[in-house]
Amino acid sequence: MSARTFFVGGNFKMNGSLDTLTKLLTQFNEATLDPKTEVVIAPPALYIIPLRDHARKEISVAAQNAHQLPSGAYTGEISLEQLKDINLSWVILGHSERRTLFHETDDLIAEKTAAALKTGIKVIFCVGENLEERETNKTTEVVTRQLEAANKVLSEADWANVVIAYEPVWAIGTGKVATPEQAQDTHADIRAYLAKASQKVADSTRIIYGGSVNAKNATDLAKRQDIDGFLVGGASLKPEFVEIINAKL
Ligand code: PEP
Repeated sequence: MSARTFFVGGNFKMNGSLDTLTKLLTQFNEATLDPKTEVVIAPPALYIIPLRDHARKEISVAAQNAHQLPSGAYTGEISLEQLKDINLSWVILGHSERRTLFHETDDLIAEKTAAALKTGIKVIFCVGENLEERETNKTTEVVTRQLEAANKVLSEADWANVVIAYEPVWAIGTGKVATPEQAQDTHADIRAYLAKASQKVADSTRIIYGGSVNAKNATDLAKRQDIDGFLVGGASLKPEFVEIINAKL
């Protein structure tokens, strides 16, 4: 049995209203959740506070992004300092939608990650290859490059506050899930890479899978040695998110 606590994150993206998300969270609050799973939901920014206040104590709340600087003339942005100000404990960084649609680079994501950890906010750090990269056998190269940018600016101790989300871009929101073997292989490569920071980092860092996870495929994926949980998009907006949280039961 792995000593790593199973971790399930729900990324609501730019979906829902205060009413629908409050009702959804009420369902999670009232459900039986595996006490051994760490659960974090990431609502749209303006619903963070009301949902954080509504969530039962076992459910933490994350931001979906943040700016690396503490304050300034950055219209539309929210800083890590401001997230800290409201006692938020998690932020998702490097999601593929931020990388592709908002042109965030490996270096910017690494800078944000270092700033988050310095501010005292834990990071769900996303990596993953696109379809062309997978088809040309570049998965390990791409994921290593994305991790390398972070490893250059993080200390060994910093990794204790990072969860790595492996999210193949071709599997996000497409209904095309990676097979347990495909996911396990890349997770093992990521863990091997982490040994560069230290063997302790490699052994203790949670590596979670994201990409069309649902109640049906979660159980098989969760059985793999190096899959320590999930980052869930679409299915986190549905009651089946509870079954994904309970995938190890
Ligand atoms: C995501 O966006 O992080 C994600 C994994 O989405 P989905 O589960 O919808 O593929």
